[in-house]
Amino acid sequence: MSIDAASGGNPLPTAVDVVILGAGINGAALARELVLNGCSVVVVDADDIAAGTTRWSTRLVHGGLRYLEYGELTLVRESLAERNRLLQLAPHLVSPLGFVVPVCGWFGGLLAAAARILGGESLARRWAGTRGRGGITVACGLWLYDLLSTGALWPRRCLVPTTAAGMPAVDTGRFPLAGVYDDAQMRFPERFTVELLVDARTIAAERNVPFEVRSRHAAHLGADGRLRVAPLAATGGVSSAAGELHLAPRAIVNATGAWVDRTLGTLLPVDRGAGGAPLIGGTKGSHLLVDHAALRAGLGVHGVYAEAEDGRPVFVLPFGDRLVLVGTTDIPFQGDPSAARTDDAEIDYLLAAVRRLFPGAAPSRGAVVQHYCGVRPLPARRADGRSPAGITRRHLLIRHPRTPLPLWSIVGGKLTTCRSLAEGAAAEILTVLGRPVTATSRSRPLPGACSARESEELVGRCAARAVAAGLPGPTAEALARGVVGLFGARAERALEVGAGASTADTFALLAGSRLPRGIVRYCCDEEWGETLADLVERRLLLVFDPDLAVTTLRAIAAELVREGRLAAESVDGEIQALVTLMAEHYGKRLGDRA
Ligand SMILES: Cc1cc2nc3c(=O)[nH]c(=O)nc-3n(C[C@H](O)[C@H](O)[C@H](O)COP(=O)(O)OP(=O)(O)OC[C@H]3O[C@@H](n4cnc5c(N)ncnc54)[C@H](O)[C@@H]3O)c2cc1C
Repeated sequence: MSIDAASGGNPLPTAVDVVILGAGINGAALARELVLNGCSVVVVDADDIAAGTTRWSTRLVHGGLRYLEYGELTLVRESLAERNRLLQLAPHLVSPLGFVVPVCGWFGGLLAAAARILGGESLARRWAGTRGRGGITVACGLWLYDLLSTGALWPRRCLVPTTAAGMPAVDTGRFPLAGVYDDAQMRFPERFTVELLVDARTIAAERNVPFEVRSRHAAHLGADGRLRVAPLAATGGVSSAAGELHLAPRAIVNATGAWVDRTLGTLLPVDRGAGGAPLIGGTKGSHLLVDHAALRAGLGVHGVYAEAEDGRPVFVLPFGDRLVLVGTTDIPFQGDPSAARTDDAEIDYLLAAVRRLFPGAAPSRGAVVQHYCGVRPLPARRADGRSPAGITRRHLLIRHPRTPLPLWSIVGGKLTTCRSLAEGAAAEILTVLGRPVTATSRSRPLPGACSARESEELVGRCAARAVAAGLPGPTAEALARGVVGLFGARAERALEVGAGASTADTFALLAGSRLPRGIVRYCCDEEWGETLADLVERRLLLVFDPDLAVTTLRAIAAELVREGRLAAESVDGEIQALVTLMAEHYGKRLGDRA
């Protein structure tokens, strides 16, 4: 059963339990939780799935060691529990990562940490000095971190000399000691978000509950509580086949993250419950992707969590086998979150932080192959004197008064807590709808979930099929690793859906990539992929390939034409638009490899 698109005239609106505005990680997790509880749901995004802050993050699934200094024990405990859960429910997308915290000596930061815990941020900054946190402060933090983590899967924290074997190649003169602990990395939250929605669709089909996702649509709420959901624009010269929806929802959730206030402003003039004051006080954060062999080798298997010269936290993280992810800044930001960009000063600041840690492997500006920038959807309320880093990362679910139907906004949140946020929000929404909570996602794996062993078996099976279709062994293996890396347990299905007229077609490669051409069909048919940008940035993640070339964009565009998603005469324009976006948004220049 699906929700019918209205076709002209004055259609009767379709009844639906909940409309969620925003298909970021939080909107998607909430949609899944509600469908799991038998609600019909329509998810509407003004752009694509995971096109907002979700993909501009540091990509960590972590308890947030530094939140301990701000006394956020509840948040840290919840985040650690969710971290442990996500490692089990989505092992193909969330993997353990060992962290190292380099420290200058034993005693630094004790007074500052104590002042912060007691709420004296300005005193903390005065006492912080330039030597950063010392061994005792870090050891206390790590001890507390372990204490708050129930069911931890790893060895406990320890303090070791930086000269010990296997440690990252930090400046051992400046940092003789390091705290060692474990957290986790979600390299592709874009794919995690898509899988949440794929799972929601599966659950909906099993329970015969209507469920629909609309990208590039805008929602307009009438005073009578009716909602019109209309396509924003034709994409790639092909107008939306889906048409308008006319809905009579029982509730609406504004899960548009950093856009929450803007969405409220266009949706209807509601009283926001605080005299119309903004709910979001966003800060922008930038990241660099660095292609520097010595730095990547110097990191080894660890991430480094350190302080920049000004005491702000900085992460230097492995990003696959070749790249290093460095982030982040934290700068108050007003205006349209879509317009946030990394500026030169942020690049210099982050490179200086890396230089301070790794003077022997410091990358130059030329090694920065791309960067990205996003706005944190932080609550506007600020604790007195707190720096942006000290603003709470807890989420809030705000119910707006005097609206024609129940309307909530989600403020704040983290990737890490998307599932627990969804569980809490669904419970409140179900209560208002007069329905009981009948299920939770606590132990429900994502559709692509597979262990490391299962993943290796899948690679073997996919590679064997590719070899049988005539691909040379190493090419077949690379293809299989690429597909399993993206789709996990769904890899074989992805190859089947993508199959062309013959087996050989199934494994024909997209030019300049190790992925098969048919994968484009799978992303369109089963993952709501519509445009060239959807495919490159948020389904196949080719945007992070340092060797990405226009040739590959052209190959994907050709598949989109074949799938009827792109008009042949629009191909050049689409490619040019994406090349421009990459340069503007990511500082990334594409080659034109043949
Ligand atoms: C620099 C930085 C680093 C971070 N690092 C981490 C980290 O390491 N770990 C962690 O756990 N968290 C991290 N976070 C926090 C985390 O990324 C965000 O809190 C989270 O992604 C927010 O998700 P969301 O779904 O609420 O919002 P978003 O992902 O922004 O989704 C909102 C969606 O709403 C859509 N939209 C906008 N306007 C409308 C409208 N009018 N109608 C319909 N749709 C609309 C947008 O297109 C977007 O897709 C970080 C955040 C930043 C900025």
